Amino acid sequence: MINAITSDKVPGNFTARVAVHPIHDLLEYLIPDNLREKVHPGMLVRVPLGRRESSGLVIETGPASGRKDLRPLLEVFREDPVINPELLELLKWAAGYYLAPLSSLVELALPPGLENPPPGEPRIHLFRMAEGLESDQLLVQVLHSAPVQAEILKQLADSRELSLSDLPPEKRTQYLRALREMKKKGWVKGFYREEELPAGARVKDLTPDQEKALAAIEAGLGKGAFETHLLFGVTASGKTEIYLRAAARALAAQKGVIILVPEIALVPQIAGRFRAHFGARVSVLHSGLPRRERINSWARIQAGLAPVVIGTRSAIFAPLPDPGLIVVDEEYDEAYKQEEGVHYNARDLATVRGKLAGATVILGTATPALESYFNAEAGKYRLLNLPVRVDGRALPPVTVVDLRTASLGSDWTRNPLSPFLKERITAHQKEGGKVILFLNRRGYSSSVLCQDCGQALRCPNCSVSLILHKARKILLCHYCGFSIPPPDACPACHSHRVRMFGVGTERIEEDLTRDFPGLSFRRLDRDTAHRIGAPARILRDFSSGGVEMLVGTKMVTKGHDLPGVSLVGVVLADLSLDLPDFRAAERTFELLAQVAGRAGRGEHHGEVVVQTFLPDHYVINLARTQDYPAFYRTELEFRRKFFYPPFSRLVQFLVSGVNARKVEEASEKFKEELEEKLSGKIRKGRDLLVLGPAPAAYAKIRGRHRFQILIKFPPDFRIQAPLAKILESYPHRQLAAGVTFSVDIDPQSLL
Ligand code: ADP
Ligand code: ZN
Ligand code: ZN
Repeated sequence: MINAITSDKVPGNFTARVAVHPIHDLLEYLIPDNLREKVHPGMLVRVPLGRRESSGLVIETGPASGRKDLRPLLEVFREDPVINPELLELLKWAAGYYLAPLSSLVELALPPGLENPPPGEPRIHLFRMAEGLESDQLLVQVLHSAPVQAEILKQLADSRELSLSDLPPEKRTQYLRALREMKKKGWVKGFYREEELPAGARVKDLTPDQEKALAAIEAGLGKGAFETHLLFGVTASGKTEIYLRAAARALAAQKGVIILVPEIALVPQIAGRFRAHFGARVSVLHSGLPRRERINSWARIQAGLAPVVIGTRSAIFAPLPDPGLIVVDEEYDEAYKQEEGVHYNARDLATVRGKLAGATVILGTATPALESYFNAEAGKYRLLNLPVRVDGRALPPVTVVDLRTASLGSDWTRNPLSPFLKERITAHQKEGGKVILFLNRRGYSSSVLCQDCGQALRCPNCSVSLILHKARKILLCHYCGFSIPPPDACPACHSHRVRMFGVGTERIEEDLTRDFPGLSFRRLDRDTAHRIGAPARILRDFSSGGVEMLVGTKMVTKGHDLPGVSLVGVVLADLSLDLPDFRAAERTFELLAQVAGRAGRGEHHGEVVVQTFLPDHYVINLARTQDYPAFYRTELEFRRKFFYPPFSRLVQFLVSGVNARKVEEASEKFKEELEEKLSGKIRKGRDLLVLGPAPAAYAKIRGRHRFQILIKFPPDFRIQAPLAKILESYPHRQLAAGVTFSVDIDPQSLL
């Protein structure tokens, strides 16, 4: 890389090679004389692009390549590079590895709007009633005089807070004016940050296991040499406490810290705990932040003011000047993999960034990804064990309810909660224990079926059933958002015998209201969590308020430290087992172990009830004992036998288009090309399989038909170079007119 622009004596022109999203190749621009001293790699610039202008990132500078018709770049944004050299290396590495345009990686690393950041403090975007005031009492005062204020009070009575992003645009100005008035009167308060959860008690002494693990981590931190630890600790074994102490150590050595969690909903709790130790040196970075706040966070991190970064997967690109510790909590979680755009895995990039920066990496989990445990066994990661819970409690006992016999003849859709589970809910409620009910499906039902002609109501754009959302009175497609009002009669045969099958969280909510009239509960799923701060509020009401039960999807299974929970019920364990994906068993084991881990923290004894139609399945049996090593050994044999990771590696192509026949034809041809060009690159006698094309598990999404091609190859074969060569002929990822494809290196899901 040539990046020195030293003097005017250099003959010829100087140019910058610039990454401009979404263009694949770097573009070359002349550097005008007046900008010569200012343009360096990592700087954000404005460039002409056809008839438009765009911003881009300078990747390298040097003498002109000799191309004619070069245009000059127009402007330099900000004084300093926005990407430091270490981070730029990471982005380049990732672009090469994931076969993605460098410009797309730059796009991921920078908060939108950095070119012209809005000045001043982050804007308030959330309003609540002031402490001690009741909206109902104030309502009479403004009911006739100020209708908009009255409207706001009513909404606050319903939802307790008002997010500006929820306001219909045409009412925005009116509302803002009214809110300003109400703020002046002291009625409402404005917030600009997602609320954090209380930090919990300070821990005085580590357990001997924690001491040992921390000592191993600190040894590496002291040396400043790259090392990856797999912190394999059962739920509530005190992993987070270790992250805190390792972070303190990194800070003491003037190094930065990145803590990744899989979901935005998990940020408030861990941010609360870190802020209790490190105060304003902590900053939060994720895509759910309002634009201005995200830029603020980013700028504070870049300036070295906030060396502890907590965020979701894209925070692996945080502009920390000198990271010394990178933690990936719940490292097995598939949410670390981005499924659109650049298919990167933040967990894997954590080890790459660790290597580039000479940092210590901790992958923490109760249920390691099979690949991670395999790496630990192979000596690539150092394995640190926390085999028992901090309080010495045993993991909660698990009872499996066989749904084939439990519902006593009547069908399950009518009675999703078995008599046994109901009886246990009542028992725990009586003793003051809190309950979590988990069901991995939102909405009311899983399908709507005509009992006369057998027709299921399906999305016209996708090959999936429409899901009833009763409260919103719609049938909704969870893939494309298509919705229709629930019809009275079958659209095909006009029969009125249209029935719902399967259940979702909304339905469980309805059953609970009917069967447990005194019970106070909240639902946590994508439908209730879409507002900023909503998950934190629901969790707070549950952990420290009067709420006795939490019902929800995967969002309730993850990492939360909720002390009073004594019973965890899994409404249907089979949902993830049925998925046509080689990781289905692993995902199910993880889910069951994680959700079971929510029970019995703190003083209450825990109990877990798992409902299933497959009580003899080995995963259900192993989840009963939560014996990860036994699961690992069983599963590993499957993987070996069928040549799946970690014994092979995978690349998945997803080919799609509106015309099914064209898609299939183009896929066939592409598969042949792949086979022909790749097979010559691998040593004789070794396996490289190009499988497919086959219709994807969801064969049609958003009106596009989808075919899948899967390449399996030995882990040490470097497929990127030959693949990149093949892909050069498809700069727009297009196989034929109207047929495009995406490429996914190390896919996490084959659906
Ligand atoms: P994990 O991250 O493994 O789920 P946490 O770090 O959240 O576990 O610890 C679970 C609970 O135990 C937390 O409330 C934490 O404050 C507490 N804790 C952790 N370590 C100790 C310790 N050494 N002594 C007492 N309490 C501890
Ligand atoms: Zn019908
Ligand atoms: Zn759809």
